[in-house]
Amino acid sequence: MLNINTQVIEIPEPMFRGWQQTLNLIADSIAVPAVFIMRVHHNDIEIYVANDNQVEYVGQLQQSTELQQHCQQVINQQSSLLITEPNPVSGDNSLVIGSYFGLPLNWPNQQVFGALCFIDHKVNPLTPQHKSFILLFQQALQADLDLLYQKAELAHCNMQLKEQLAKQNVALAVTKQNLLYELDSRRALESRLIYQQHYDALTGLANQSSLISQVDAMLTHVDDNNELAIIYLGLRNFRSINNSYGYTIGDKILLQISQRIHQQLTTEYLIGRCWGDAFAIVVRDENVVEQTIDLVSRLSQSFDAKFQLDGFVITVPVCFGIALADSANDKAISLLEKSEAAMSVSKEQSKYYSFFDQDIEAVACERHYLESHLAEALNNNEMTVHYQPMVSVKSGRVMAAEALVRWTNPVLGAVSPERFIYLAEQNGQILAIGNFVLRTAIKQAAEFRHQFGDDFCIAVNMSPVQFRDDNLVIHVAELLAYYRLPPGCLELEITEGVLLQDELKAGIAIDALQKLGVLVSLDDFGTGYASLSYLQKYSFDTLKIDRSFIQNVTKCEEDRELARAIIAMAKKLHLYVVAEGVETAEQNQFIIDEGCDFGQGYLFGKPVPAKLFAGLYGNLDAG
Ligand code: C2E
Ligand code: MG
Ligand code: MG
Repeated sequence: MLNINTQVIEIPEPMFRGWQQTLNLIADSIAVPAVFIMRVHHNDIEIYVANDNQVEYVGQLQQSTELQQHCQQVINQQSSLLITEPNPVSGDNSLVIGSYFGLPLNWPNQQVFGALCFIDHKVNPLTPQHKSFILLFQQALQADLDLLYQKAELAHCNMQLKEQLAKQNVALAVTKQNLLYELDSRRALESRLIYQQHYDALTGLANQSSLISQVDAMLTHVDDNNELAIIYLGLRNFRSINNSYGYTIGDKILLQISQRIHQQLTTEYLIGRCWGDAFAIVVRDENVVEQTIDLVSRLSQSFDAKFQLDGFVITVPVCFGIALADSANDKAISLLEKSEAAMSVSKEQSKYYSFFDQDIEAVACERHYLESHLAEALNNNEMTVHYQPMVSVKSGRVMAAEALVRWTNPVLGAVSPERFIYLAEQNGQILAIGNFVLRTAIKQAAEFRHQFGDDFCIAVNMSPVQFRDDNLVIHVAELLAYYRLPPGCLELEITEGVLLQDELKAGIAIDALQKLGVLVSLDDFGTGYASLSYLQKYSFDTLKIDRSFIQNVTKCEEDRELARAIIAMAKKLHLYVVAEGVETAEQNQFIIDEGCDFGQGYLFGKPVPAKLFAGLYGNLDAG
């Protein structure tokens, strides 16, 4: 049973009136002047309903403490009480209650309602008939209270139900709201994903895959009146921009580049960022070749203006590769690859733009082919290191060796370093290859010292990519310590490429290597444009004159003079001079006459494996 607070149960008006009428009727029937229904209210017992046919007497009883006491007794003892002797101490007024008959009235949950009582100013013992009549009325009242209680219970349950429903409604509303939020955020996420699938986050341009699908759709409409070309735009120095100024500036430059490209385009062009510093522009026109050349020239001019960013003024040279669609059967991806291959050729050959043609196709094919084999070359132990002697011009002794990497592939056979080093530099494999050569050569040099003496030196070629590695100097120091080779026995050969990529960084690395005690030489001297200026800027130990000069010294007066001047200048700068590619006795005589320190070339010996090198040139007694 629910615990209902019965104090608050109101007796409905019709029931109240019914009780009132019944009380009047009973009072008349059994001739009792006062019949009350008493109700407990908080701590008081008050007359709740009274017969109204004896108003004066009822009024007297209103203040009667005796009535209160009798009723309290009935309620406390929960049994009927019949008093037929008037209170002797009450005097005249005591006659107000001559007799009292009371019965308890309770709610069905045993909470007290009050009492039903009959009061007479004279002694009135009540007949048994009257008593049973009164009991009947008491039961009727109890039944009414039961009914009211059940109604209250029902109302209570209803209210609880309503509250629960309201709570559930609130919870449902919250859940619904959350679901809507969830739906919104999912939709936003989906939109973002769709955006990311199609657009480049940095520039907002179409990304490579979306560009390809759009071009594929365009290609189905390619005919004589509507031709299509892809212009691939590449930056010549993006890597060094990133290295010198950091990625934030790098990103800002890419954004500005995309804006610059946009400024040169009308809406008919489609533009995308393929990856990193590569952008592609799609041209559709009747005169696609003229249009493309015109656009490339406008774009080139727009890149002449320097970029100004965060207080830096940066030059961003660009080059282009162009691929034309031949037929509607062309595929966007292969067109894009062709334009990229053409761009690489422009980059290598320092041209503004190149159209993809059969020559480039052959180069690209070979590059792919080589690249696929190169990827596994180190793992398959296809790489070795050969050693070419460097001979002292004065004594004729083998004083040093240049370590030269060799790659022999089961399918391709021997592949010249000139073919694969460039490729490895492009795809980053040069780091692994370079480390392999460095470790092998340093280890070998430590052994060679036993056969060639303590002043024997090993020269190792370094790629510009290796020079960008911040750990290069530490790595070299660790290898030297591990194989116990004195730093002065190692010479690192760098080409202008190292300096071109990032002069500042290269300068710092050269200094750090020299501080370590390692020697640094400038290789292939004379082949680049800025060689002379570099000699002044950096403190090299050795200068290696490129073999193209040496080959001509006996044939061409001009080259001979140039070689003479170079040697004289190097001497002034206190550099050791090595002549590369000495093949003949005449060439050797020239370098002797001019005071070169060392000679290297087929005349003294070709690059050979370490064992053969030791067998051919080693002084076994020295070990
Ligand atoms: P380099 O550093 O100038 O090496 C000298 C090249 O000239 C070698 O070619 C050598 O075999 C060749 N040579 C030496 N004497 C003569 C001669 O008398 N006549 C002729 N015709 N050639 C001679 P190789 O081994 O094919 O290497 C070519 C280039 O590849 C090297 O030029 C160097 O720049 C690069 N390279 C070789 N090994 C490595 C390496 O381990 N790492 C890096 N980064 N580059 C390497
Ligand atoms: Mg070299
Ligand atoms: Mg060289």
